[in-house]
Amino acid sequence: MKESPLPSAPLRLFNSLTRTLEEFHPVHPGEARLYTCGPTVYNYPHIGNMRAYVFADTLGRVLSFKGYRLTHVINITDVGHLTDDADAGEDKMEKMARQQAQSIWDIAKHYTEAYWADISSLNIRQPAHWSIATDYVPQMIDFAKSIADEHCYELPSGLYFDTSTVADYGRLARAATEEGEGRIEAVEGKRHAADFAIWRKTPPGEKRQMEWDSPWGKGAPGWHLECSVMSRELLGLPFDIHTGGIDHREIHHPNEIAQNQAITGCGSLDCADHSGARMWMHNNFLIDRSGKMSKSSGEFLRLQLLIDKGFHPLAYRMLCLQAHYRSELEFSWDNLAAALTRLKRMVMAVAPLKDVMPAPEVNHPKLTPLLEKFDAAVSDDLNTPVALTLFDEAIGMKKVPAEQKRALIEAMDAVLGFGLMTLTREDLRLRPKSAEISEAEIEAALDSRKDARAAKDFATSDAIRDGLAARGVEVMDGDPLRWEWKLDPA
Ligand code: AMP
Ligand code: ZN
Repeated sequence: MKESPLPSAPLRLFNSLTRTLEEFHPVHPGEARLYTCGPTVYNYPHIGNMRAYVFADTLGRVLSFKGYRLTHVINITDVGHLTDDADAGEDKMEKMARQQAQSIWDIAKHYTEAYWADISSLNIRQPAHWSIATDYVPQMIDFAKSIADEHCYELPSGLYFDTSTVADYGRLARAATEEGEGRIEAVEGKRHAADFAIWRKTPPGEKRQMEWDSPWGKGAPGWHLECSVMSRELLGLPFDIHTGGIDHREIHHPNEIAQNQAITGCGSLDCADHSGARMWMHNNFLIDRSGKMSKSSGEFLRLQLLIDKGFHPLAYRMLCLQAHYRSELEFSWDNLAAALTRLKRMVMAVAPLKDVMPAPEVNHPKLTPLLEKFDAAVSDDLNTPVALTLFDEAIGMKKVPAEQKRALIEAMDAVLGFGLMTLTREDLRLRPKSAEISEAEIEAALDSRKDARAAKDFATSDAIRDGLAARGVEVMDGDPLRWEWKLDPA
C-alpha cells in the first residue's frame, strides 16, 4: 500500500499554562500520554460534565488520527472530593451515602456504572486505564511522605501543602496572589489561604466509612493528591496532556501542579516539564439558563433525560462538536433537536455506502483535498465545527468512486466518533418515555390514512392525522429526510 501523505498538518493545541497555541511535541516519540480528571461518583453526571469527556475523547481521537500511540487515563474519584474546593465542607461521597443510607462502596459502584453507561452511549472510547482513587491510597501516602518535610505542615485537621514552597504557585489560574478569587481561608491555622489538605484526618471520636492509617493518623487523601499520584503512576512525569473542565484551572490543577513540582524537586515552572504535564487543556462550560443542570434540582439534565425525551445520545455528541471546546455552549432543546436532524441527514446520506468495501487509502483527486482540509481543521486546536462542515461536504460528494468516498468518510468519522457506518435511521428513532402509542398502532393508522388519501377521502385522512397528533405523533408529510412521523417529546 502506498504511504498516505496525510495527516501531516502540524498539531497545534491551546495550552492553558501559557494561554497560547503550541505545537504538540510528544515527550516520548510517537506516543501521546493523556490524563483526564474524571467524575466524583456521588451522583449521576450531568450533560455539562459529559462535555468534558466528549472533549477529552475528541482530543484522544485526533491524537490517534495523527498517528500517535495513545495512552489515555481517566480517573474515578470515589474518595476525597469535598463539597467545597477550598477544603471546606464534607466529603461528597460520605454525604451522599448518608443521605441515601447506603455504603459509600455501593454509592460509588452505582454512579460509576451510570457514568460508564453515558460514556458508552456517547461513543467515548475506552481509555487504557480507568484509575480508581481508592486503589491508589498506599501510593498517595508514599507521595505525601516524600514531600511532607519540605512542603507540608500538620494541623489538627490534616496535612497541608504550603503553597509558598513552590515557585509561581497559581500560575495556571493566573491568580498568583493570595487575594486571588475563590480563595477562602476555611481552615483555621493555615499559613496561606491557598494552602490545601493533602491528607484529611478523621476527627477524634468520629469514624469515617472510608479511612486509612497514615503517619498523620487515620484519615483520607485529599482530592488534588489523587490526580498527581495516579497520573504519575500510570503515565510517568512528565506526560503530554492533562485535561479537565475550565473550573479545574482555578484550584484543582494549580494544586496538582504544586504537588508535581514538589515531587520532582523542581521549584521552577520555567521548566514546563515540572508542572507534571507539558500541556494543560480545558473545555469551557455547557450553560443552561433553565438551571436544570444543577444536580440539586429534581429533574436535572442528565443524558438519560435526553434519551427519555426521545433524543438519541449521539445528538448530544453532535451538539458538543458543533461548538469549539473552548467556547461556552448554550444548551437548549431546540439546539439539540437541530443537532439530531443533522445527524439523521448524515445517517441517511451514508446509508448507500454501508455495503461498499472501503479503498485502502484516500487518493482520489477530488477527495484528498477534503481530507487535507479536515486534517488542518482538527489539527488547529480541534476545530470540530469546521471539521463537521467538511464532513458534510464529503458526504455530499458526487461522482466519486464509492470505495474512495467510504474510505474518506470512515477516516473522518473515526475522529468525530459517530460510528455512522453502523448507525441506522431506526437507531435514531427513540421513543419518548411518556409516549403511550406503539409503533404498530402508528403504522396501522398511517396505512389507513394512505388508503383514505388514495380514495380522495381527505376528511378521513385529516381526522386520522389529528387523532395521531392528539396522541403525540406528528405526521411529517413531505419531510425532506423522508421520515413519515415523529413522536413529540413530552
Ligand atoms: P466533577 O464530577 O464535578 O469533578 O466534574 C467532572 C468534569 O466536568 C470536570 O472536568 C468539570 O470541570 C467538568 N464540568 C463541570 N461542569 C461542567 C459544565 N457545565 N460544562 C462543562 N464541563 C463541566
Ligand atoms: Zn483531577
